[in-house]
Amino acid sequence: MPSDPDQSFQPTAEADEKQLCVSCMFPNEPSAHFCAKCGAPLSSYAATGPFESLFAEGHVYRQAAERPRSLIVVLGVWLIFGMMALAGLVVAFMGRDMGIGYTAFGALILAISVVLIWKTTRNYRARGKTDEKHDG
Ligand SMILES: [Zn+2]
Repeated sequence: MPSDPDQSFQPTAEADEKQLCVSCMFPNEPSAHFCAKCGAPLSSYAATGPFESLFAEGHVYRQAAERPRSLIVVLGVWLIFGMMALAGLVVAFMGRDMGIGYTAFGALILAISVVLIWKTTRNYRARGKTDEKHDG
């Protein structure tokens, strides 16, 4: 019985080689950088570089801000982005001597942090009173 080495060379597994999304288990294309279903960054892409990993972390924070599951998440966002807002404020003030770039960067961090804190708090409060609709 002669074994055929060419048989094993066929790329049969290539079509089935999908990246499973860790968030929703959706099978994505191997070349995909983000999940086609839920938008989560896929593992192979998240570790590419500092900017990409920052983006991947941003997704986690965005999910926390849009769907705060518990008060701990809200407190965590307050703690992390409260410190970031403070740091942004310091950088913005220091930037008055060091250049407009620092001021803009500090102001940007401050604005992002405040918006994230506000959004998280608002979404958490809105989730608690879904029953009583009150138009004011
Ligand atoms: Zn997904």
